[in-house]
Amino acid sequence: MQVTFLGTSAAVPTVDRNVAALMLQRDGELLLFDCGEGTQRQMMRYASGFAVDDVFITHFHADHTLGIPGLLRTMGLQGRTAPLRLYGPRGAQRQIGALTALGMERPKFAVEVFELRAGDVMPRGEYDLVVGEAQHKGDCLAYAIAERERLGRFDPARAVALGIPEGPLWGRIHKGESVSLDDGRVVSPQELVGPPRTGRRVVYTGDTAPCSAITELARGADLLVHEATFGEDERERARETGHSTAREAAIVAREAGVKRLVLTHVSARYTREAPELLAEAREIFAAAEVARDGLVVDVLFGE
Ligand SMILES: [Zn+2]
Ligand SMILES: [Zn+2]
Repeated sequence: MQVTFLGTSAAVPTVDRNVAALMLQRDGELLLFDCGEGTQRQMMRYASGFAVDDVFITHFHADHTLGIPGLLRTMGLQGRTAPLRLYGPRGAQRQIGALTALGMERPKFAVEVFELRAGDVMPRGEYDLVVGEAQHKGDCLAYAIAERERLGRFDPARAVALGIPEGPLWGRIHKGESVSLDDGRVVSPQELVGPPRTGRRVVYTGDTAPCSAITELARGADLLVHEATFGEDERERARETGHSTAREAAIVAREAGVKRLVLTHVSARYTREAPELLAEAREIFAAAEVARDGLVVDVLFGE
C-alpha cells in the first residue's frame, strides 16, 4: 500500500501546501480521501493516477470538498465511462449532489453518492473499509483500510522433504486442509503452514479534535494520518474549532499503539517544515513526522 499526500494545508491553500486530499494505492486500486480545491492538479503533479473509482469525504467543509466539481469535469473531458462513487456522512446526497451539479453539463458517466455512518464496515475484496467517527463541527467521519488476515507462510522445502509433490495439494494444505497421500500418510496444515499473518491497517482522520473513537479506530495501525492543525501555542483555538494540536495527535498515536504517525492539515501560520509541530509530536511519539505535499509513504507488511 502506498499513500500520497496531495494536500496538507488546513482551511486555505498556501504557496507550499494545497488543501486536504490523500490518495491511497493498494494493489493497483486507487482510493481518494477528501478532495480540496485543486486536488486534480495535485494528482497530475505527483503522478498519483486518475483512475479513481471511489472518493471518501470526511465532512463537507470547503477545504475538503471544493475539488470535486473540477475533478468530475476533467474526468468527463477525458471520456470516462466508468461510474464514480462518492461517499460522505449524513447529508452527502444533498451536499455532494450540489457540488457534482456545479457548472457542468451532466457527465456521461454515472456519479453515485452514498451516505455512511460511523460503525459502517464495507467489505471490499481483501480488506474492509471501516468508517469511524471524528469529533469536529457537525457530522464528520474518519476512515480505516483494514486488510483481512492472510494465510500463514507455506514451507515449500519441507513439503518437498515430506514427499508431497508440488501442485494442487500444496494449495489445499496452504488453505488449511489435511490431505491424504497415496502411501496412506495424512499431512495436516500445521506441519507446513505458519500462523496467520495480520493485514495492514491505515487510518485517516480528516478534521478532528483528539477523541477516543479515533484511538480505537487506529488501534495497532501501521500508519495513522492524523490532523494537527495547530501547535500547543494555539491549543485554545484548537478546542474552539474542533481541531487537534500536534502533541494531542501524538498522544492518540501512542495510546493506539500505531507504528507510524504522519501529521497533516497544518495551519497556514506554520512554515513549510513546521519544526515546532514536529518537535511537539516527537516529544510524545518518536515515529512522527509532518507531511508535505507530494510525500509518499509506503506501508509494508510488518514481518
Ligand atoms: Zn479542514
Ligand atoms: Zn473541517
